[in-house]
Amino acid sequence: MSDPTAARQLMVSSQLRDRGISDSRVLEAMLRVPRHEFVPGSYRAQTYEDHPLPIGNSQTISQPYIVAVMLESLQLKPSDKVLEVGTGSGYVTALLAELAGEVFSIERHPALADLARELLTALGYTNARVLTGDGTLGLPAAAPFDAIMVSAAAPNLPQALIAQLRDLGRMIIPVGTSDSQQLQFIRMVNGEPLITPRELVRFVPLVSSED
Ligand code: SAH
Repeated sequence: MSDPTAARQLMVSSQLRDRGISDSRVLEAMLRVPRHEFVPGSYRAQTYEDHPLPIGNSQTISQPYIVAVMLESLQLKPSDKVLEVGTGSGYVTALLAELAGEVFSIERHPALADLARELLTALGYTNARVLTGDGTLGLPAAAPFDAIMVSAAAPNLPQALIAQLRDLGRMIIPVGTSDSQQLQFIRMVNGEPLITPRELVRFVPLVSSED
């Protein structure tokens, strides 16, 4: 790639800002994080294009626009404690580490978790921890969370994750079958999850150990 910084600027202006992403913290984080570092060599030239890309183990790094929509919905503050389910490449983990105070990320494929952990350390992220396991169970030991971002499609809303949201905590998660999914935004208000349906999306499935 000739100039990743210029490619990233173009990605942010044409794929994000022009389509309505306006949160300056999200836009700045997406300008800073070197997405090409998270894409395997054979696909690296396509890093800043407007689509997901394979990262191995039949998984994908998400499309930049969908990542931005999900991050913007969470309205993260620098002091927030965040849980991510589906680390994958670690790209979103890096963005969450830029936007929040502390990040816990769970990935079920040990090989992907190991790669992401090494890369995040090499890039200097000290406030993000990658764990191997079943993210549908959340991380009770670190709960409650201010925000939860799930990057794989669940058949139903995982109740364990809702139970680990703090009051006024937010969660964004794709819900549905392999060919029809919708992002659901959840906000906990007085112990009740308020659910707002959002964009139609297409993610790899969230695989629960109980399936
Ligand atoms: N945000 C990531 C998306 C990766 S794709 C990126 O942009 O790179 C979704 C990831 O969720 C895959 O790596 C998949 O292995 C993982 N996954 C699926 N079910 C899971 C589960 N129950 N617990 C943890 N990770 C899971």
